[in-house]
Amino acid sequence: MSAALRNLPSVDRVLATEESAALISVHGRQQVTGAIRAAVDALRQSVLAGAAMPGDPAQAVLAAAAADLDRPDPLRPCLNLTGTILHTNLGRALLPEEAVQAAADAMRSAVALEYDLISGGRGERDDHLRGILRDLTGAADATIVNNNAAAVLLSLNSFASGREAVVSRGELIEIGGAFRIPDIMARAGAKLVEIGTTNRTHPKDYRAAIGPETGIVLKVHCSNYRIEGFTREVGAEELAGIAHEAGVPLMNDLGSGSLIDMSRFGLRQEPTVEQAVSAGADLVTFSGDKLLGGPQAGFIVGSADLIAQINRNPMKRAMRLDKIRIAALSAVLKLYLDPDRLILRLPTLRMLSRQRDDITAQATRLCDRVAERISPLGFRVAVCDCESQVGSGALPTDTLPSAGLALTGTGRAGLVELAAKLRDLAVPVIARISDGALILDLRALRKDGDLLTALEGLSH
Ligand SMILES: *Cc1c(COP(=O)(O)O)cnc(C)c1O
Repeated sequence: MSAALRNLPSVDRVLATEESAALISVHGRQQVTGAIRAAVDALRQSVLAGAAMPGDPAQAVLAAAAADLDRPDPLRPCLNLTGTILHTNLGRALLPEEAVQAAADAMRSAVALEYDLISGGRGERDDHLRGILRDLTGAADATIVNNNAAAVLLSLNSFASGREAVVSRGELIEIGGAFRIPDIMARAGAKLVEIGTTNRTHPKDYRAAIGPETGIVLKVHCSNYRIEGFTREVGAEELAGIAHEAGVPLMNDLGSGSLIDMSRFGLRQEPTVEQAVSAGADLVTFSGDKLLGGPQAGFIVGSADLIAQINRNPMKRAMRLDKIRIAALSAVLKLYLDPDRLILRLPTLRMLSRQRDDITAQATRLCDRVAERISPLGFRVAVCDCESQVGSGALPTDTLPSAGLALTGTGRAGLVELAAKLRDLAVPVIARISDGALILDLRALRKDGDLLTALEGLSH
């Protein structure tokens, strides 16, 4: 074995080859040296574990280093055929071209982010979005932060730090990714006062809990689950009345929060931000990249003096948005000023509103051509019905009738392997296994060619 190890090339020797020079011209010396060192180490380990030394060890090391250096970026664009439109793990909403362009323009150049072009004096970054958020929500003022989790944390910290925050036990939710209302409360410095029971909370529960130590009453929209049956929750309007009687602000965390009525698309009606504002909440928080269809952001809209108080909280500075997202958000919000054409222009809504017939027609067009790629691997391809979902905890119990391609032919292990192959493509195709098939839900597939081009990379 030690004889075999004697043939192990040194890092310097491999680095001196012409092939290494070519790699260095692309990746730089530091990265190439690191990759070669790792490849030499890996080869040493495998020989020590009993593998044979390859005939040309230096070539083997170079090949391994090159493969390592050329590994495609995991963050490259992929096709979300999971059927979940706002897939948190796949980056949620896809932005409209207007927003992409605005973000790119802002990235390339200086912009008057906090600069008043008229006076030449200082401006405020939130001013770019304030006016339009007022118009779209009916709120008196708005402030914008990194995401909705930050919006909730900042609001609680601004009004309930060292004081009590009253919330119904039915609304002590976990959103996923460690966002749990009780934990956020604790980090905001608020003392959680839970009232009512899991399924029923009454006006008298709130009245009994609100006292001199109460800093805020919190209502949380249960976006990712539903309690059905023997239930009672205090509606937003009634709760606003109770909070105001006691002189305490009401904050309504809508989660996804929609700026338009989703029942137009056959979805369950979610409270819109405008409804939450007009129901009397003093603060309403919602996400930028859920149903709204923009980049990650958190909005707080509400009364002017409470928003001013939030803006004075030093924590706000730690959660503020950059020019890129402000530019993108501004472009997205502008589309909402023309609701009639919103569906055509906003990808999230376009996907949500696609009818099954349209998706089935796309699946039918694609079926034979996808089969040409997939059947050599031993799978059949057929058009199927399936159900999409909104995702990101929005409208969790609603599904959207959809269609796609069902890939079948081997046992589960074969499907798992096929799914991995599709994920390994230059343009990864992300599908889901369900009922003994690998399902490609085509709801989110914009152009037929996108899938066909991606599948060209399949090796047989
Ligand atoms: C999603 C959600 C959040 C967190 O929003 P992010 O934008 O993901 O940070 C908070 N509250 C509710 C009710 C939600 O649904």
